[in-house]
Amino acid sequence: GDKTFTLERFPLDQKNRSLQAWDSADEYLINYVNEHHPDCRSLLILNDSFGALACYFSELTVCSVNDSYISHQAAAYNLKENKLSTAQFTQLDSLSALPENVDLVLVKIPRNVGFLQFQLSELSEVLAPGTPVIAAGKTKEIHNSTIKAFEQFIGETKTSLAVKKSRLILSTAKGGYKEANFPVSWELEGTEFNITNHANVFSRDSLDIGARFFFNYLPQTPKAKSIIDLGCGNGVVGLMTLSRCPNASVTFVDESYMAVESARLNVELNQADRFDDCQFIENDCLTGFDRESVDMVLCNPPFHQAQAVTDHIAWQMFKQAKDTLKEGGELRIIGNRHLDYHDKLNRMFGNCKLLGSNKKFVVLSATKNSGML
Ligand code: SAM
Repeated sequence: GDKTFTLERFPLDQKNRSLQAWDSADEYLINYVNEHHPDCRSLLILNDSFGALACYFSELTVCSVNDSYISHQAAAYNLKENKLSTAQFTQLDSLSALPENVDLVLVKIPRNVGFLQFQLSELSEVLAPGTPVIAAGKTKEIHNSTIKAFEQFIGETKTSLAVKKSRLILSTAKGGYKEANFPVSWELEGTEFNITNHANVFSRDSLDIGARFFFNYLPQTPKAKSIIDLGCGNGVVGLMTLSRCPNASVTFVDESYMAVESARLNVELNQADRFDDCQFIENDCLTGFDRESVDMVLCNPPFHQAQAVTDHIAWQMFKQAKDTLKEGGELRIIGNRHLDYHDKLNRMFGNCKLLGSNKKFVVLSATKNSGML
C-alpha cells in the first residue's frame, strides 16, 4: 500500500518482539480492496488481530468485530499511536449484533472453523444480497471446510491465487439467514452440570483433559476464600471450585468474550444460588487487578496467541497472580510436564510444591511469602 504505520502486537511487553502485528494476508486484502472496491465507504472487519486493517482503513466508517479483548486494546492503541481518527471507528465483541448496510465485509479467517461458521451465520442475518465478503488467510490454513462454510452461509464463492503464501476467499451474499449450531452443550462427567460453550471457547466440544486432571486437586474448604479462575474458558474449573467451597467467591477471567459469557451462563444455569458470589471479567490476564487482594489463583494456562506458539502468557499470568495474591495466598496450576513450570514458579515464588502428576500433566502449588525473598 501507499501508507506507512508503526504497528505493535499486544501485550506490549512480550519477549519475542520480532513477531509482526500484520501479515501477508492483510496486505493481500488491502491491495484487493484498493483495486476492486476503491469507492467503498463503510467496512465491517472481522478478526483483525492487532488493528492493522483498522489503521489502514481509518478514513472509512469501520466496525471491527473481535472475540479477543487484547485485540480490541491493540486496535485502539495502534490507531492512537499512529494519530489516526477514531471518529468513525467502532469495536464489537463477537456476540453483539452486527451492523446492517455495510458496503463490504473483510474477514481474517480464524483457525477455529466452528467460530468461522458462527460468524458467517451472523453475517447472513444482516448482509444485503450482493454484498461482497472478502476473506484472507494463510494458504495452509484454508481448507475445503473453510470454503464450504462461505458457500453454505454467504453465497457464491471463489478463491484467488496464492500470493506470499496467502489466499483470498471471494464470496457474495445471496441474502437470507442461515443458522449455525451454537452454542454447544454437554454434560460434565461425574456431575449434574450441563456446560454451555460459545463457538470460540477453548475445548468447546468436550472437557479438556488437563482440566479433568486438575479437578482432582481443586481446593475443598468450608472457609470463605476469594478465588480467581484465570483463563477460565467455559468456567469448568471455577464452577467445580464453587461446588466444593460453599463460602468461596470466584472471579472468572478470560480474554475471550465468548469464554467469559460461557462461564457466566454456566454458573447461572448450574449454580444459580452462587451467582452473586461470582464476577465475570474480560481482561488481559490480571492487568489492573488490585494487588494483594485474593486468597487463591487457579490456572490452566494457554500456550499460544494469534497463531504464535509462546509461553509469554503463562509467564504473565504467574507474575500477575503473584502480585494479586495476598501474603500467604496460593497459585495453583496445571501444566504439561515438558513445559517445566516447576522451575519457573520456584524462581518466581521461592517455592513450588508438586501436588500431583500423571504421564502428561503436573499440578503445582506456589505460595506467596514475600518475607522469604
Ligand atoms: N480454564 C479452562 C479449562 O481448563 O478448560 C480453559 C483453559 S485454556 C488452556 C486457557 C484459557 O486462557 C483460554 O480460555 C484462553 O482464552 C485464555 N487466555 C489466553 N490468553 C489470555 C490472556 N492474555 N488473558 C486472559 N485469558 C487468556
